[in-house]
Amino acid sequence: MPFPWHRASNSTSEPVIIDCHTHLNEYDETRPTTLESRISKLMESMDEAGIDHAVVLSSYTANDLRPHIDELVQAVGDHPRISLVEGLRWRYDDERTDLFRMEERIRDGVVKGIKLYPGYDQFAINDPSLESVFRIAGKHDVPVMIHTGDTYSKHAKVRHAHPLLVDDVAVDFPDVRFVMCHLGNPWFQDCAQVLYKNDNVYADISGLTLGDFEYEFERYVMQRVKDMLIYMGEPGRQLLFGTDWPLAGMRSYVRFLAGIEVSEEDRDHIAWGTAKELFRIELPDAEAPAGEAP
Ligand SMILES: [Zn+2]
Repeated sequence: MPFPWHRASNSTSEPVIIDCHTHLNEYDETRPTTLESRISKLMESMDEAGIDHAVVLSSYTANDLRPHIDELVQAVGDHPRISLVEGLRWRYDDERTDLFRMEERIRDGVVKGIKLYPGYDQFAINDPSLESVFRIAGKHDVPVMIHTGDTYSKHAKVRHAHPLLVDDVAVDFPDVRFVMCHLGNPWFQDCAQVLYKNDNVYADISGLTLGDFEYEFERYVMQRVKDMLIYMGEPGRQLLFGTDWPLAGMRSYVRFLAGIEVSEEDRDHIAWGTAKELFRIELPDAEAPAGEAP
């Protein structure tokens, strides 16, 4: 596919893209698939959309449809185009995450970040029980990704996933870097405020649609993103490209990224520069985008 924009640092080469938010879950319960087939589908989809590297997030529960982090480590732990982020299993799952084991995986570099699912899992992000989780993240300087906003499941409690609650933990744990997933949809303005106020908070643009963007909805979301950029000031430093694949289509999402009105330098930061630094991702030939490092 011809790329919709050029890299700012070197206009002759294709842009680098890191998708910082993907899953290897099967969301269609009627159609059990193997993990191997989902991995090949991920690679196919990345190649088709021109995505170089994907961050795969494990779930708040583990079963046939949602692989346990140990399964993912085994299957793709040393894959050059995949990095793993461990989803915390805290309230919903009988088998809670063993933080000692989680810290070992982080220490060994097998896991590059932590994902929390407030709303889906029955806790709010400022729940005091999470302090030990944030201490581990701070100690090893790995980002904590947080589901914010609308929940795909009717059993989730959406109030717990409000982006404004992220401000509480951003202030209480200043040495931890947080990533608000999905821009807090539909609370975009609250998300922008938390980003503007806290230097240790980032946000990914994933999961803003199911499947491909339909014109009307894409226009709606693009306008919200535009409003956020005006409010935030420094979009390249804090925003990350992510899709939420397989829930959202990668090609359609790359087009959406191309349509965001920012400088080419900022787009490079959003597309890969900030994610590379946050998750310590090794890319074969990518130089850091020109200008100030995020
Ligand atoms: Zn997701």
